[in-house]
Amino acid sequence: MYQNKNSEKLSNEIFETIERQIIPKAFQHTVVSLLKNNKTFNSDFLQKITSFYEEAKVISQISINSFSKNNKNDIAIACQRGCSFCCHLKVMVTAPEFHIISNYIQETFPKEKIKALKTTLRKTVSEKNRCADLAERLAIQCSFLENNACSIYEARPFTCRAYYSKDSKVCQKYLKNQNLDIPISMCHYTPYNAFKRGVIQALEVTDFELPAEELNSGMLRFYNLIDQFL
Ligand code: SF4
Repeated sequence: MYQNKNSEKLSNEIFETIERQIIPKAFQHTVVSLLKNNKTFNSDFLQKITSFYEEAKVISQISINSFSKNNKNDIAIACQRGCSFCCHLKVMVTAPEFHIISNYIQETFPKEKIKALKTTLRKTVSEKNRCADLAERLAIQCSFLENNACSIYEARPFTCRAYYSKDSKVCQKYLKNQNLDIPISMCHYTPYNAFKRGVIQALEVTDFELPAEELNSGMLRFYNLIDQFL
């Protein structure tokens, strides 16, 4: 069943309003927190970014609750543990999130696993760089995917948190046919993506060279930088 034109228009207006509220707020809070912390990604600043994950979760839950009263099809989600087609897609990650992920890995992964992860990152990035087209690149999974589950789930970035599909069959087919439109849940996507955009805009105006990067190559660059100074 599809939404009628009026309810689709109303949904779009609600999501646009959520974006208009969140993006400037995330931008302002990020700039203030960055300047307060001397433009370093210290623990106070990273705590601020992590708090955005929680806020986005609350806002997405409020949208889900209000949409579920009108049309259950708006909020039906196909995602479940063990389904990982989306972990082949390109994931853009904001600069501070690489620190959040790295801290999580440092705290929870044994040394051997960190070593193995760096090898996997190198292999993933070099294989993706060698691919001639998008379909080939999409055949390669994210370096953090283990047995079809995310090994950094608690620290996963905005982009992964935003992504909930209404049809996993389309996700699967998309890996071979990028002309398809994956029907995603806007209740999830809108708040997480709006916080991400606010953070990126804040990093841009405070002169960060790379406000966001692709997950695997950015994480590899991050580790290479750290190794240089050890
Ligand atoms: S970080 Fe986790 S959720 Fe995101 S693409 Fe990689 S494995 Fe999937």
